[in-house]
Amino acid sequence: MLLNKKTIAILILIAAAFLITNRWHFNFFKEQTVQRVNDKNTNPTSKELQIYFLDVGQGDAILIKTPMGKQILLDGGEGQTVLEKLGQYLPLTDKTIELVILSHPHGDHLGGLIDVLERYQVEEVWLTGVVHTSSGYLEFLNLINSKKITAKNIFACGENKPTGCSDEIAVENNMKFKVLWPRENLTGQRVKEINNISMVLKLIYGNNSWLLPGDLDSAAEEKLIRDSPEYLMANVLKVAHHGSSSATSEEWLKLVSPTDAIISVGKDNDYGHPSLRILNRLKRAGINIWRTDELGDTLTESDGITINITSP
Ligand SMILES: [Zn+2]
Repeated sequence: MLLNKKTIAILILIAAAFLITNRWHFNFFKEQTVQRVNDKNTNPTSKELQIYFLDVGQGDAILIKTPMGKQILLDGGEGQTVLEKLGQYLPLTDKTIELVILSHPHGDHLGGLIDVLERYQVEEVWLTGVVHTSSGYLEFLNLINSKKITAKNIFACGENKPTGCSDEIAVENNMKFKVLWPRENLTGQRVKEINNISMVLKLIYGNNSWLLPGDLDSAAEEKLIRDSPEYLMANVLKVAHHGSSSATSEEWLKLVSPTDAIISVGKDNDYGHPSLRILNRLKRAGINIWRTDELGDTLTESDGITINITSP
């Protein structure tokens, strides 16, 4: 009995010591947490990755500001609107754009990029390398040459893995592009349907992803559905070809299964974009729709776990 009391007393002492030690640990870690939160409070509204779907009228222009401070511009719309937007969202003193990506050389994606190459120090350009003889595209290629900008022809590996293909390209820690389309090296090649060789990228940051299919039409969309269904799922879909009925099939939406869709489109455009059929399809699937012609610029912000969408 006496021994039992002694044992109990010792056990109580051990328990007390354990509690004190643990409490110290608890406080120590709490302190660390508070420190981190305070650091973040220096910029409380900013999440780490910011992707702006810029309202450039009829066209696409997507500005990506990475957590490490890189600036990437995917397409530039037509005309000079993109310059105004960059002036609005980039610091005045920052004239460097680390990467410009051209999905395909149609004017509503390419036009504004010519001014961007002229006004900004662009460090690298990604394109498909397809042959296109518009004066704008030739000017774009000449500028890349004369300014000695690093240009890379980007195409996906797919099953055949052609020489020089890319599967994934890391931008920085925790952030990468999955290259989905085209699946062949188009350098020096002419194609009938330029829309269908749009570069299709999936941007992945932590657990979040954005599918960016340029102006892809149904022929290429069907090939991706057939051959790469496992890579299409994304939180946010930039709807292909400004919401044209020539893409965004039921099956495509089922595989991508986004919570939010962004339609980059000009008010009262000549093409009737976005198509009512596609709008209804998105609504039936319960997907939130963000249209640049109605809401203006649309910003998606992510900390790698959740995405916030607003029209700034
Ligand atoms: Zn377009």
